Amino acid sequence: MRNLAHKPERAGSPDNPETFDAAKLANAATAALRAYDPGHDLPALRARFGAQIAELGSNENPLGPSPFALDAMRAALPESFRYPDPRGASLKAALARHLGVAEDRIALGNGSHELLILLAQCFADPAHSVVFSQYGFAVFPIATAVAGAQPIRVPALPREHASAPFGHDLDAIAAAIRADTRLVYLANPNNPTGTWFGDIELERFVARVPENVLVVVDEAYCEYVDVAGLTSALRLAHRHPNLIVTRTFSKAYALAGLRIGYLLAHPSVVAVLERLRESFNVNNVALAGAEAALTDHGHLDRAREFNTGERTWLADALAKRGYACLPSQTNFLLVDLGRDAAELERHLFERGVIVRPMGGYGLAQTLRISVGSRAENQRLLDALP
Ligand SMILES: *Cc1c(COP(=O)(O)O)cnc(C)c1O
Repeated sequence: MRNLAHKPERAGSPDNPETFDAAKLANAATAALRAYDPGHDLPALRARFGAQIAELGSNENPLGPSPFALDAMRAALPESFRYPDPRGASLKAALARHLGVAEDRIALGNGSHELLILLAQCFADPAHSVVFSQYGFAVFPIATAVAGAQPIRVPALPREHASAPFGHDLDAIAAAIRADTRLVYLANPNNPTGTWFGDIELERFVARVPENVLVVVDEAYCEYVDVAGLTSALRLAHRHPNLIVTRTFSKAYALAGLRIGYLLAHPSVVAVLERLRESFNVNNVALAGAEAALTDHGHLDRAREFNTGERTWLADALAKRGYACLPSQTNFLLVDLGRDAAELERHLFERGVIVRPMGGYGLAQTLRISVGSRAENQRLLDALP
């Protein structure tokens, strides 16, 4: 063995921990990325503010999970010494019944985030381009970068747009598709704008997309939708095998901490994803919790009704105070201040009200505020200057 202790040091050598920097060794895709910014150290803030904190930064469901899910998770815990079912067969069967789709059209993920990344890893190369909207969900550019593919970021609709300010411009997105495009990512409704497009607009869009371009529609908030004319991209799937729908248990089902989501796609898409999917990507407690949550229709209905009522109430109260919100079909509001939002964000933060600044999206004049419990929302209103 070499005697490392007596080797002369060289700058930048791995033998010198002072100058060693693995960032220089990161592959091209990773070199272009930054680590996730959680906004704030929430565990530290909980310790500081206790129950006085209003956590309105992560679009979590303030009603919490279904008691059916909690019971199923407790029952699953003693089995955690075993590996989970790598196929997630029982949950897939339940989802298939729930949605009226065949089981071989379902893939399960460690959150839908994992599936969005996996799609790019399995289908896009550096020779391909990937198309998404300017203010589309933050994971879309990351997935593109992971695959080393070329991002095509399509300008959003203008702030003045009547129904979808800052929303997806489907005409421009269709026009941006090139011969080398392999994937299009859409979010409907979208995070962080809260905006949406209707079934008919999507139908018209998909009809314009060649079959060798996969269209991914991220429906993380679909259970909250209460507007006419928007159901799900799923209703077009039988006619368009290149259409992929992603869903999650993190939002309306209130299981964000479990990390479980799913996608619905042509069986051949699912089969390709299965080649790269980590065999045990969804843990046994999450599988059990999600399956039980699906059976609790009342709980989901209450979440939807509470969200619609509370979102309307909060948007009205904010408007009365001079804070304009974009239209939303989600469980959050994008507040547009018309001036830099950093000062207001800090003001709220100092009063234990956590909201999400949007500078990272290029929307520095806005704040994303989740619809919390009535007590949390009231705390927000009380903390406003
Ligand atoms: C929250 C969210 C998700 C869900 O991510 P998970 O990994 O399933 O928790 C997906 N897409 C959008 C647009 C979201 O806002």
